[in-house]
Amino acid sequence: MILEKTQLIEITDNLSASDNVKKLEFAADIINKGGTVCFPTETVYGLGANALNAAAVKNIFEAKGRPQDNPLIIHLDCIDNAEKYCFAEQNQYLEKIKSLFPGPITAIMKKRDNIPGIVTAGLPNVGVRVPLDPVAHMFLSLCKVPVAAPSANLSGKPSPTCAQHVINDLNGKVDVIICSGNSSVGLESTIINLVSEPPMLLRPGGITYEKLCSLLGKVSISDAVLSEMKPDDVASAPGMKYKHYAPKSPVFLVIGNLEEFKNFLIEKNFFEKFAVLAFAEDIQNLNLNNIFNIGSYTNPEEVARNIFACLRATDEICGIEKVYVHITDDKTGLNLAIFNRLLKASAYHIIDLRG
Ligand code: AMP
Ligand code: MG
Repeated sequence: MILEKTQLIEITDNLSASDNVKKLEFAADIINKGGTVCFPTETVYGLGANALNAAAVKNIFEAKGRPQDNPLIIHLDCIDNAEKYCFAEQNQYLEKIKSLFPGPITAIMKKRDNIPGIVTAGLPNVGVRVPLDPVAHMFLSLCKVPVAAPSANLSGKPSPTCAQHVINDLNGKVDVIICSGNSSVGLESTIINLVSEPPMLLRPGGITYEKLCSLLGKVSISDAVLSEMKPDDVASAPGMKYKHYAPKSPVFLVIGNLEEFKNFLIEKNFFEKFAVLAFAEDIQNLNLNNIFNIGSYTNPEEVARNIFACLRATDEICGIEKVYVHITDDKTGLNLAIFNRLLKASAYHIIDLRG
């Protein structure tokens, strides 16, 4: 840290008000001096440092307790600036997906020498993202340098979708936390590797696989999206082999209809203390303590926004031994990203009740 203690900066609704601009200028100055700043984005909150300054980037790994072989994404205010840090114009695929920027997507391209190895964990490629969130956009424009950032949580924990999550995890470990509203997507960016042939989806997110196929034609899906990586696997999606998104108690995903799920929980209720994440339509019918509403079956956008906050909320209940999450096996659209995060949160523990 370059400051003595973490400064919390509150951004009010009227972003262009001079007070807000002054606060964001202060945060950008901290980035330029080699400090660390947590900032809101439409996906999740990020923990940023000047991507061109290896010493500053090292502080990100330390604050999070993140393994150094897990690369970071660089954040820019405009996709046209990508050419400065990677071989964007040579990439035949970037042109086809340019309309998705700014937005919840990260493109992996061959990096230039000005991006230090610590950002990409020694890989020859770098992930580039341009957030849509207006606070993030103004902050990044003021920084005038690329900002390397992973999610602003302690390594392994669910990603932060509101300022309070960031404060809980990183207060005292970072220089500045920019506090703004809740993240509107609620899941980390879609990651597409534009260097592989055909382009490969490394992590599903707010921009769906179907949307990418419509723009790029053929898109492959990394094994890491739906299956478990062993510690010594060579990762095409680095970082995917680590424990992710996990609350304190072990998570189990449960597939089945409402009746099957209800009977399962009634039986468990005799000998276990657990928390439940369930769909909005079923909350009343399940009639249990420690139950969290993830949103409607028919509204995956809502589930995406809620899921990390629900996982974090289970940490607040004393003495629970397990978390049961009711899921469907729909993997289309945004459901692929939700399913992927829950798989990692549960360390692939699925209970299938279907007869
Ligand atoms: P986080 O923002 O915390 O989700 O971390 C960024 C994630 O982006 C990492 O865990 C990696 O999976 C992925 N990533 C970043 N840079 C690269 C890269 N150069 N190649 C492949 N994946 C990357
Ligand atoms: Mg993360």
